[in-house]
Amino acid sequence: MVDMAARFGDLMRNIEIPFPWERATFVAAVAKNRGRPIFLQRVDDPPALSGLGCGTTTSGLWIKTTHSDIVLYNADTEWHADHVISHEIGHMLLRHDGQGASDGTPAYRPPLHALMPELSPDSIQSVLGRSDYDNVREAAAETFADMLMVEATLPRRRPSVVRRTLFRARYR
Ligand SMILES: [Zn+2]
Repeated sequence: MVDMAARFGDLMRNIEIPFPWERATFVAAVAKNRGRPIFLQRVDDPPALSGLGCGTTTSGLWIKTTHSDIVLYNADTEWHADHVISHEIGHMLLRHDGQGASDGTPAYRPPLHALMPELSPDSIQSVLGRSDYDNVREAAAETFADMLMVEATLPRRRPSVVRRTLFRARYR
């Protein structure tokens, strides 16, 4: 298995993690890195999202449109929201675009109209949802989110090489 700590370091090389942590600042940094805006939209009706989005413990859904990325999420706490959003951003940075699962299952097209009536179906390029999952990608996105949350709360500002060493030790 790929060393996820090394992969994380590569993915985050040009994306600054704000300290103190601030979700909007981080998401803006990811958007700048990708050259596409990212819109976060909280879903206040959890049943509307369950069954569409990621996993059973997280409630997030990444929609890639022609010119932007949209993350729908539901969470009980701000920390949980950070984690769910980080998980979806992990899918983005790890390039888990919903182009169909590795076993050839076609790309996922969930019924999004009820959640996002203003979103034109023609503008949707991909939606990463349940039928696209495989355990490897889910685990990678979840590990990414875990690492990001740890990194976001580590004491600063030590030289990055020290932080990276700490990191590797923790996730080896
Ligand atoms: Zn996921």
